[in-house]
Amino acid sequence: MPTALELVAEEASTCQRCKLADAGRTQVVFGMGNPHADLMFIGEGPGAEEDRQGLPFVGRSGQLLDKLMLEELGITRDHVFIANTVKCRPPGNRDPEPDEIASCRPWLEQQLSLIDPKVVVTLGNFATKLLLETKEGITKLRGRSYPFRNGVLIPTFHPAAVLRGGGEQLAQMRADLVRAKQAL
Ligand code: URA
Repeated sequence: MPTALELVAEEASTCQRCKLADAGRTQVVFGMGNPHADLMFIGEGPGAEEDRQGLPFVGRSGQLLDKLMLEELGITRDHVFIANTVKCRPPGNRDPEPDEIASCRPWLEQQLSLIDPKVVVTLGNFATKLLLETKEGITKLRGRSYPFRNGVLIPTFHPAAVLRGGGEQLAQMRADLVRAKQAL
């Protein structure tokens, strides 16, 4: 018997709710990991490698995420669930647009309801602004946790920003992951 989450993934795999469906996506990148995870990471949207493999965070950003997860939380990605704000690759890796984020939101909400994580870590501006329903940027929002659904939300930088930004942002992302560990 497929799980409820697998049924949602199956339904999402043919999604036509926004223009990203016809903008060159190879496949819908629904997300991966433990369907009963206490910890969920939410990124921005699939890049080229994610679109090719059908899995989230498998490129350079994902390598950094895996490394920090191991070093700060002592876990591998099969213990968590990893998803994105939009499930299809925006062409040329442009930012997802407001109508695309809004169209995709019900998929994310279903994932959050079914997985019901204790801790949600949002990676970067798009996931953070969407779920905290704010226009404030990640630099201001990170550094604390927020009540969210049945648990807490901990915003942090997107790993791609850390790869560009270097030392200070890396240290701050590490600190945010330690906060996530304490909240678990
Ligand atoms: N960046 C994201 O936000 N999500 C991915 O899946 C990969 C890179």
